Amino acid sequence: MSVNYQVQSDVAVVQLDNPPVNGLDIVSRRGLIEALDRAQQDPAICAIVITGNARAFSGGADIREFNTPKALEEPSLPSLVVALERSSKPVVMAIQGLALGGGLELSLGAHLRVAEGTAKIGLPEVKLGILPGAGGTQRLPRAVGLETALNMIVSGNPLPARQLAQTRLFDAVVDGDPLEKAIELGRAAAKQEKLPTLIRDLPIEHEDAEAYLGFARTTVKAAAGPYPAPLRCVDALVAAATLSFDEGIAFERKAFVELVNSSESLALRHAFFSERAASKLADIGSEVRPREIRTVAVIGAGTMGGGISMNFLNAGIPVTILETRADALERGLNTIRGNYEASARKGRISAEQVEQRMNLLTATLDYAALADADLIIEAVFEEYSVKESVFRQLDAIARPGAILASNTSTLDVNRIAGFTQRPADVLGMHFFSPANVMKLLELVRGSATAKDVLATALAIAKTINKTAVVSGVCDGFIGNRMLEQYSRQAGFLLDEGALPQQIDRALEKFGFAMGPFRVGDLAGNDIGWAIRKRRYVEKPAITYSKTADLVCELGRYGQKTGAGWYDYSPGDRNPRPSRLVEQLIIDHSAALGLTRRQISDEEIVQRVVYALVNEGAHILEEGIAAKASDIDVVYLAGYGFPPFRGGPMFYADEVGLFNVLGSMRRFAKGYQGQAWAPAPLLLKLAEAGGRFNS
Ligand code: NAD
Repeated sequence: MSVNYQVQSDVAVVQLDNPPVNGLDIVSRRGLIEALDRAQQDPAICAIVITGNARAFSGGADIREFNTPKALEEPSLPSLVVALERSSKPVVMAIQGLALGGGLELSLGAHLRVAEGTAKIGLPEVKLGILPGAGGTQRLPRAVGLETALNMIVSGNPLPARQLAQTRLFDAVVDGDPLEKAIELGRAAAKQEKLPTLIRDLPIEHEDAEAYLGFARTTVKAAAGPYPAPLRCVDALVAAATLSFDEGIAFERKAFVELVNSSESLALRHAFFSERAASKLADIGSEVRPREIRTVAVIGAGTMGGGISMNFLNAGIPVTILETRADALERGLNTIRGNYEASARKGRISAEQVEQRMNLLTATLDYAALADADLIIEAVFEEYSVKESVFRQLDAIARPGAILASNTSTLDVNRIAGFTQRPADVLGMHFFSPANVMKLLELVRGSATAKDVLATALAIAKTINKTAVVSGVCDGFIGNRMLEQYSRQAGFLLDEGALPQQIDRALEKFGFAMGPFRVGDLAGNDIGWAIRKRRYVEKPAITYSKTADLVCELGRYGQKTGAGWYDYSPGDRNPRPSRLVEQLIIDHSAALGLTRRQISDEEIVQRVVYALVNEGAHILEEGIAAKASDIDVVYLAGYGFPPFRGGPMFYADEVGLFNVLGSMRRFAKGYQGQAWAPAPLLLKLAEAGGRFNS
């Protein structure tokens, strides 16, 4: 049952009951229409109140129904809103928790609305690349005014109901449960001769709508980048301001259908679902109970240890941080405090919050202080000998059932687990730098990692607001293993004729947040250099362009040394193309006996992105990633892959795997062609006309 019908003397109280957020799927929509009919036909009923629960009035349309016949099945959401407007008895909405998207649109069809002051009110559709399609773009400006509506619809960000209390959207804003007030208003309205004016019949008042909307269009266009939805939202508001209500609704419908089928919206919806799916593992059901995490310990107060600690402090979880030396500990604490104080100066947190968070932090040089910790995360130097010493000590002092995690980026988590007598309690928690900012968290599942340990890590990731993806054990896990192939191609392109600035520009035009050479200069080119030096010994068969080593040999590590792939002026982080590096690259091509050629932006994009895709296919096939969408989430959350392209695997699916394979076969005939042996899974899917994301 997704709708409950109750009678409180002469008022019908219809309660949405479709956990978790009262999504308006077809069953709920039918339930609402039936409840509405029943109330119309019952002469003892004078008014109808529709409500949800304390958590949610309604989170909106059920987006699982998009692009399925269910979305169009009647009563559709637009029909339901019209049915409310046609009710012969006053309909009152009692809103708590949240009224988002279709939930808010539904409420706009009622005669009256009462909300709890803290309820979140918004139309977030634009974030999925669409616009509100059940009249929201036409009714909201009539209720809250053109400017507020435009801001809400174009940003997608919700507002607390209290902030909208003075508008025609709400007839009352109350503290606590709005039901009583809604019943009272319903009864009062029923006594009137005429029903209260519907929102659709209100005028849109604005001193100079034309000028305002013109200005809005320019601003939104500049900010929207490759996304079509924000501008269509503005168009819909122009329609609201200039056309009749019914014409406006027709315009909105047309724009909605167009956007729902756009590649950008498909990609954004894929990203949305993929992120949710990433925390659901096939072999870990709801019967696996996460362990309780009340206190956390972090080993190592360096770059990563400090950032990792901040995540937990921000969530109100006490952290004990351990170092070997007092000076390193003090430096780490000062960095954490400095970061918080910088946030306070920018107004992101209050001075009081700085102290609250610092008060949750305990510093120690003594392992005995970690004996009660529920989760211990190691972030010490990246060497087996150091990890071994740490994990042996942890094994000796940690309480039974404590989870022991390593933040290693390259080492074998199974080997680390083997340093303890409790490998089932060990996993990798691979944070990304800066660890207090980056959303991605790779959870590395060792061969012995217990299910409830993984379930706990997934749960705590949510608590600290990270996007978690589970990876199997392999060199580089999902993200960095793929990135290696991407970087190799970027290097080969230099050898063949491209320059760093051209490659960066081509990839940024494709939509990457930053091209590989700018990233290298930002993160430090010495990190990759150290990894390659190790690879030259461990895996001598792998080839790389030598250019990156040559740049590092000049001490050009990037921004931190004032020069890298690019030149930098003191105090200026803007990269300037470097004549010296250009010459170095050209000379290197000559030394290889290569005749440099003009390389198109299209080839650049295909070479680096398909390198990601091919390695992603290996990762899928080996079971390192459980599903293609997990790989997409890693790249969207951690590597600046353009959200409107949905991640590398989704992008390849959309290009068509047959076409991807065709390009790869062409590249295989060129320079360093051996890098293009197609992954067997890609071959199989391409030949069968399949997709990675089914
Ligand atoms: P870092 O050098 O900044 O910090 C390491 C800290 O560990 C230092 O403060 C050091 O004093 C301390 N330490 C060393 N041995 C210790 C011991 N036995 N006991 C306690 N503390 C000890 O290094 P980092 O960049 O923070 O990296 C730490 C770990 O995180 C490494 O495994 C690294 O691979 C991984 N990692 C780093 C990044 C990154 O971008 N820096 C990203 C992901 C993962």
